[in-house]
Formats: sequence, structure tokens, C-alpha cells
Amino acid sequence: MRKGHMTVLGAGLSGALLSTLLAQKGYQVQLFEKRSDPRKSGLEEGRSINLALSHRGWSALEQAGLREKVHDQAIAMQGRMMHSKTGQLSFQPYGTEEQAIYSVSRSGLNQLLIEEAEKAGAELLFQYRCEEIYLDRGEALIHSLENKTNVLTQPDLLIGADGAYSTLRTAMQKTPRYNYSQSYIEHGYKELSIPAKNGEFAIEPNALHIWPRGGYMLIALPNADKSFTCTLFLAYEGKESFAKLNSPADVTRFFETQFPDALAVMPELTEDFFQNPTSDLVTIKCFPWSRYGKNVLIGDAAHAIVPFYGQGMNAGFEDCRIFMDLLAECNHDYAQMVQQFQSLRKPDADAVATLALQNFIEMRDLVADREFLERKKIEAELHRRFPDRWVPLYTMVTFTNIRYSEALRIGQQQDQIMRKVMKHYDYASELTDQDYERIVSLMTND
Ligand SMILES: Cc1cc2nc3c(=O)[nH]c(=O)nc-3n(C[C@H](O)[C@H](O)[C@H](O)COP(=O)(O)OP(=O)(O)OC[C@H]3O[C@@H](n4cnc5c(N)ncnc54)[C@H](O)[C@@H]3O)c2cc1C
Repeated sequence: MRKGHMTVLGAGLSGALLSTLLAQKGYQVQLFEKRSDPRKSGLEEGRSINLALSHRGWSALEQAGLREKVHDQAIAMQGRMMHSKTGQLSFQPYGTEEQAIYSVSRSGLNQLLIEEAEKAGAELLFQYRCEEIYLDRGEALIHSLENKTNVLTQPDLLIGADGAYSTLRTAMQKTPRYNYSQSYIEHGYKELSIPAKNGEFAIEPNALHIWPRGGYMLIALPNADKSFTCTLFLAYEGKESFAKLNSPADVTRFFETQFPDALAVMPELTEDFFQNPTSDLVTIKCFPWSRYGKNVLIGDAAHAIVPFYGQGMNAGFEDCRIFMDLLAECNHDYAQMVQQFQSLRKPDADAVATLALQNFIEMRDLVADREFLERKKIEAELHRRFPDRWVPLYTMVTFTNIRYSEALRIGQQQDQIMRKVMKHYDYASELTDQDYERIVSLMTND
């Protein structure tokens, strides 16, 4: 039987991976992307220069047979390296010794996925911008920016992997009773850099560095060229904000007082600061993700989240894996398949959006808090003693494929228990074997 014709809008991370998976399974895939081919232009377009890849992302890459290839480009980060105001360092492992998240280059990964999509047989059309969608007919009008001509695509399924400001979703938003919300946090972000020093990493490479300062923070992830990409998350307005940093002297003063050890390894700080844009952080929710069963949204087009759990791309990749699993079972009934897909994924997308917002507070306020650190130690010990009965929330989200909605639910239960525990104990070392037994027995499985 003929495999269907799939049109994918957007050759970002999700669109390129899904196109690879579809083409590998013998679908006829057309992938339209408004940008030029990044393999030729070599441009670093888009957001963050590097990203944290974790278990969910790896699972989807494995499905495409790409684990090894991506692994070759990735740098393991085994935990958080906290930097105090006086430059004191403390390391918090993410999990067990073998558990790490991986820093990957966004453009490197995107190019690899585009290459793989092409190898698998997808037709790639760069500088083609989707301009209009005919939802009821399942068609899309695509404009070639090079030839100034239009193409009408009439696939069996139109897939919107066209990011947070998706054209397919914009068309859906014009239909009756469409649910849509976007909310910006008061913080923006700016990318900065720690270059290599004498050809080596200037700070510890196998860690995600955090300078938590309460209302704001600086983070740094390693790159293959031995530099680090830093991201400053700071409010747009207020006492300590981007609005207050108007001159090189303002920026230097701010870093001298807040991030002195980072400043020492950022020789290009002020140039970077005024050259690089300040960008917004948005959560986008919408539903349904399909109209008339002829189209579907995936990745950021369906659920853009703030980056504090390092899960946006991972969630998009998980969409791809689950999409392919459902497709394999649907017997060419795409309308039914996309219904199943959205019913399954929407609660998880909402849950990861909540988790991502919560983790901002954890990263900027709590990671340097004594009670929080003791609580983490107790939870790690619970996990060591009862690996199946107590899995810490961070571990569930980052190192398993447990549904995000389930992780959130279990995490809330754990939080209630741990709040009570922390009322009685100041330090993990005070707990006895019986205490651990008692704590884990409070978990219920319903
Ligand atoms: C600062 C920051 C840090 C982040 N860090 C992490 C992290 O550590 N880990 C993680 O998992 N996630 C992270 N994310 C999230 C991650 O970047 C996104 O979730 C991911 O890029 C989404 O991929 P996507 O393919 O769905 O969308 P996108 O990457 O936005 O790709 C959409 C593509 O569609 C194309 N397009 C748009 N409109 C059209 C059109 N009309 N016609 C044709 N093409 C079109 C665009 O050019 C683009 O190539 C971070 C995000 C930010 C902002």
C-alpha cells in the first residue's frame, strides 16, 4: 500500500527530526523552510547557541538511529556548578554517576538532522515560506523567496513544525472556539560568551554553570570549541534589570558585584552585551492541535515553553517519537491518529510548561539555599534506597520517559511529603533508616 504524502512546515529541530523519521519509514516527505539551507549559509540563526539534550531527546534520536552521531558532538554535563558571589564553587550532581545532560550546538544538531532527512529521502525546500493555509482542504500555499513563485501543497497530512509563531497555528486561531494563550515572563535573556583560554576551557567543562542571584541568574554551557555560551536571565524593568544597564561601565559594574569570577573570564563582555539582542521568554498554549483531521502541530508550534528545565527541544523530539509510534498503528487513518496524538500529548505539554516555570524559581533562588540542598540530599538517598518507589522530580523529567503529567503529579506528592519532613529535620545526616522507611511509605500510587 502507498505510504502517505506528508508536508512538514519548518526545518527546525522538530521538523527536521520528524522528516527524517517519516522518510525512513517510506513516507513521501516534503519539508518547507523559510530560511536558507544552514548547511550552505552556515548562519547561526535563531535562539540559543547551545542546548541541553536529555533522555527524551536521546530516545527520539535513537529511533532515527542517530544516537551515536549526535553523541560525537555532545559534551556531558554531570551536574550543576554553583558560583557564589565570592566565586566559591559547589557542585551538585544531577543524578547517579552515569546520569548526565548533554550540551549540543543548536546549529550543528539542526544541520545534522537536515542532512539525515535528505539522506532518508525527504525533499528539502529552503527559502520556501508558508504564507496561507486552507484548513478545510488540508492544503498550504508556499512562496518561494528565491523564484517569487507559489506552490500549492496538497498532502495527506500537513504538519506544522514551524515554531512558536507558527503559520499553521495562526490559521487555526481564526477558527471558531479556538483556545490560545501566550504569556511572557518579566525576564528577558541575553547571550554572552566565555572564550577558550590558551586553547582550553576557562572553567570546568563537564557541568552546567549557574550563578544564582535571587531575582536573576547567569548560566553557562560548554561548546565543542572550548568556549562557553552564557545566558543572562534578567528582568526587563526594575531595580536590577536590563533597563539599568545602559553603558559598558554599568555592565562591568553589575558583573563586578554579581558575577566577579565570570567577569574574569569574559574579556568581550561589554562588546557581546551591546551587540547581542535581548530576547523574550514566552509560554504558548493552544488547543486543538489539529483542525478537520488534515493537519497537526508539533514542537514549539503546539507548546512553546520557557527554557529553565532544558526541555523545549526534548519535548519536541518526544512529540516526534510518539507521533511515529501512533502512525505505525493507525493504518493510514491520519485523522484518527492526530486526535490520539493531541489527546495524549496536550496534558504533557501543559505539565512541562508548568515544570519549566517552576524550575526558574528553583534555579535562580533555591539552588544556593541550605534547606533546599539538604532536601535534595534526602531525596537522593531515598532514591538510592528505594529506586522504584522514590524517583526525584528532576530525575523523572530529565532521565526517564515518564509522562510529564505523571512526573508533575508525583512531584507534587513528593513536595507535600518533603515539606513536612523539612519541618522536622535540618540536615540529611539526622535521618535514620526508619525515617527513610517512613517517608517512602507515605507515597501512594494512585
Ligand atoms: C534561550 C533558550 C534556551 C533553550 N534551551 C533549551 C535546552 O537547553 N534544551 C531544550 O530541550 N530546549 C531548549 N530550548 C527550547 C528549544 O529551543 C525549542 O523548544 C526548539 O527549538 C523547538 O524546535 P521546533 O523545531 O519546534 O521550533 P523552531 O526551532 O522554532 O523551528 C521552527 C522552524 O520553522 C521555520 N518556519 C517558521 N515559520 C515558517 C513558515 N511560515 N514557513 C516555513 N518555515 C517556517 C523557522 O524558520 C524554523 O526553522 C531553549 C529555548 C530558548 C529560547
